[in-house]
Amino acid sequence: MRAELAGLREQALTDIAACQAETELEAVRVRYLGKKGSLNAILRGLGGLSAEERPAVGALANDIKDEILARIAEKASELASDGLRRSLAEERTDVTLPGRARPRGHTHPLRAVEQEIVGIFVAMGFSVAEGPEIEDDFHNFGALNFPPDHPARDTQDTLFLTLADDALLRTHTSPVQIRVMRSQRPPLRVIVPGACYRRDEPDATHSPMFHQVEGFMVDEQVTFADLKGVLVHFLRRLFGPETGVRFRPSFFPFTEPSAEVDIACSACAVTGRPTPGCRVCRGKGWLEVLGSGMIHPNVLRAVGYDPEVVRGFAFGMGIDRLALLRHDLDDLRLFFENDLRFLGQYPS
Ligand SMILES: [Zn+2]
Repeated sequence: MRAELAGLREQALTDIAACQAETELEAVRVRYLGKKGSLNAILRGLGGLSAEERPAVGALANDIKDEILARIAEKASELASDGLRRSLAEERTDVTLPGRARPRGHTHPLRAVEQEIVGIFVAMGFSVAEGPEIEDDFHNFGALNFPPDHPARDTQDTLFLTLADDALLRTHTSPVQIRVMRSQRPPLRVIVPGACYRRDEPDATHSPMFHQVEGFMVDEQVTFADLKGVLVHFLRRLFGPETGVRFRPSFFPFTEPSAEVDIACSACAVTGRPTPGCRVCRGKGWLEVLGSGMIHPNVLRAVGYDPEVVRGFAFGMGIDRLALLRHDLDDLRLFFENDLRFLGQYPS
């Protein structure tokens, strides 16, 4: 039996030395020392030994077991440090290499123009208001003096929702004007940036979603001269101090009188007169940028103001179109395709 134990010890130590991985070591341990392992198999023969021999052989078996366990532990730490050395060699990091730059996002060119516009009005004492993009007929049309049969209410132009009878996606930012005037009292100076929706096929100049900035001022002494002063100042801050500005009579349901506002074409301004083939203004010499007017007395009444006491002006402009002009572009879709190669050219 002593010879069997010695043989087992010899074989186990050889097997341990040959191990290449910790899993193999574990297999060796189970093979020799496990419940059904070779050592226990030998020890089952202890009962056949004499009473004098039994303790000595038992002690020998224990020594062999301890030796095998110690050798396994030793081999395991050898394998671990080999592994560490190997991965250090294979996965060496060159700490002198420059870091990999991550591309950084920036403000979208539309948002940047919106922020610039809003900033100019905030500097004039306007506060910023926002409102829901899902509106109802009252805020989007009724309170703004649109007659019941106005074509803008048609499903050709307006995107209606099935949420409720008159739920729709706002077609302009003007409903926020109604919401602010109904919840606050004059004096008011407010600017409203936001997304609007109309039923349009996307092309170079149309998009079913577009952006507006709406503004209005309501107080006891507000006149058309205030409207002119504020808008001329704004346009010259945005397009340059020499920018030519003109007001043309127009019509909107919610203002009376109404005016469209043009700026002199900057592409033609170099020559001082309209250029027949000008790509930007198509030879007109002027570019329409704003709609404006004195708030209609019916609108003031709809929000509970007395048009005999307070007056106001309002204006609205398309951010997308201003951004096209600003960046000398001629296709609106570029802003909505979100091609990073395009957007990357307009870092904020
Ligand atoms: Zn021009």
